[in-house]
Amino acid sequence: MSETEGTTEPQSIDFIREKINADNASGKFGQRVQTRFPPEPNGYLHIGHAKSICLNFGIAEDYDGVCKLRFDDTNPEAEDQSFVDGIIEDIAWLGFDPDDIVYASDYFDQLYDWAESLIERGLAYVDDQDAETISENRGGFTTPGVDSPWRGRSPEENLTLFRGMRDGAFADGEKVLRAKIDMNHENMQMRDPVLYRIRRVHHQRTGDSWIIFPTYDWAHGQSDAIEAVTHSICTLEFDSHRPLYDWCLEHLELPHEQPEQTEFARLNLTHTVTSKRKLRQLVDDGVMSGWDDALMPTLRGVRRRGYPAAAIRAFMSHIGVAKTNSTHDIELLESFIRTELNRTALRRMAVLRPLKVVITNWPEGQEDAREAINNPEDESAGTRMVPFGRELWIEQDDFKLDPPPKYFRLTPGREVRLRAGYFITAQEAITDDDGNVVEVHCTYDPETAGGQAPDGRKVKSTIHWVSAAHAIDATVHLYDRLFTEPHPGADGSDPMASLNPDARETLTAAKLEPILSEVTPGQVVQFERLGYFAADLDDPAVFHRTVGLRDEWANIQKRRQK
Ligand code: ATP
Ligand code: MG
Repeated sequence: MSETEGTTEPQSIDFIREKINADNASGKFGQRVQTRFPPEPNGYLHIGHAKSICLNFGIAEDYDGVCKLRFDDTNPEAEDQSFVDGIIEDIAWLGFDPDDIVYASDYFDQLYDWAESLIERGLAYVDDQDAETISENRGGFTTPGVDSPWRGRSPEENLTLFRGMRDGAFADGEKVLRAKIDMNHENMQMRDPVLYRIRRVHHQRTGDSWIIFPTYDWAHGQSDAIEAVTHSICTLEFDSHRPLYDWCLEHLELPHEQPEQTEFARLNLTHTVTSKRKLRQLVDDGVMSGWDDALMPTLRGVRRRGYPAAAIRAFMSHIGVAKTNSTHDIELLESFIRTELNRTALRRMAVLRPLKVVITNWPEGQEDAREAINNPEDESAGTRMVPFGRELWIEQDDFKLDPPPKYFRLTPGREVRLRAGYFITAQEAITDDDGNVVEVHCTYDPETAGGQAPDGRKVKSTIHWVSAAHAIDATVHLYDRLFTEPHPGADGSDPMASLNPDARETLTAAKLEPILSEVTPGQVVQFERLGYFAADLDDPAVFHRTVGLRDEWANIQKRRQK
């Protein structure tokens, strides 16, 4: 893994679009541009997948082309319809509309026929070696491969055996079909790769009609070719598969021009893992409540957390597409989230760790409401009336009996401004037997209703509040980094070792201004002075902190410039 990337310069045009431009100029695909997004339905999508989605669907949009969603459903053991449904939902949420939804399993007949055609031409053979032996005999970078004793079978014998594999004559794992390429090829992928294996596993689409399944290498490029994909974009790990991708296609009669594979750098983010396998482990181990836990870097997770899809798209377009792997700071992604929410989120008041304030000179039973601005970034969002009364909740942190130096908030004798309300002065703190402050008695100045004192006197801080008589109760989850290490597992250690045990802090006594009972599921609002918070998708009395207010990315950049 390379260094954390420090540059924020947006790329105007990436190397993949440059290549497409060149192909269009040379007429290679007749000016046609078709991509695909090919997830395996063995888990839900994560933030890394969003990069591939933005790239593939984005290119189709830019070039007036086509981008289909294709499920690479060739491994029935781990796949499930619920993942298929979830992936479709997540892509729609991210803001993309596939031109079609297709499945590699739709092509099982064609893939099978193509395999027979390889066999007939002496380009594939049935091997009786087990998986372990095949792997051993593949050799290494410095050692040549060892030919299988079955490599010399005649096309007739291979055809009979392959049909037997299909028809159930052999046990799982007893035989495989391999391409006959070169056991001494410098690229290990080309040393007679396996094309078909026997698996008696129910497939979510083809049921029990197939017991042999094509491997990735036999299914992927051919699926591209069947669909008339022009540019097959995948992550760098598939670089070494490209010669095999081309070999397979070059040996078949294709219905369209041969697609070309291009690799780009996967998205890595600090303090996060983007691997379905590792994310699945978090779910299976019960560390997360599910794939849609607001702490998960899955698309379902970040949706619950309140990340706007538009901000994710803007981030992906900003970081561009590179040819070498790198890791982006999660703070950069968060700054995109914050920028978007600053523009769109309504401002509201909420107290997370409440401390009771009694305004002793406020007449008992007097009702009042203060006008507050809904979004200073968007005048059209207007204002709202926030009920005010004799008893208020403020944050415990906003009052100190013994203030440290430079503490400008409430302390006995000190006057502060209540946001959209009056100036109040702390007169007396009521403590319990242990000396904890349980209530603060204050007085207010009725002349300061507009947030200014007529005599021009100043206060050094403004704090938020909620009327105790009108407050609604809520549970609020605060989140920290999922992993304490910036590059979990990068040094070869178990990434789970740096899982942050304090990544979630749950506050169950939060008090919200009453208008917050009207939020819609998933709506993100700014709790003034605290951050952006998303109303839970299922439970409206639960909020998730999306991001804090401080732009940590700006600080990181300043530090790097020094
Ligand atoms: P994982 O390793 O998390 O299981 P995968 O590559 O096996 O991911 P697929 O379902 O096969 O998952 O991925 C679908 C597409 O998304 C592939 O084209 C893959 O290259 C791409 N993709 C997966 N992870 C990332 C990532 N971190 N950044 C960019 N693209 C990714
Ligand atoms: Mg994969």
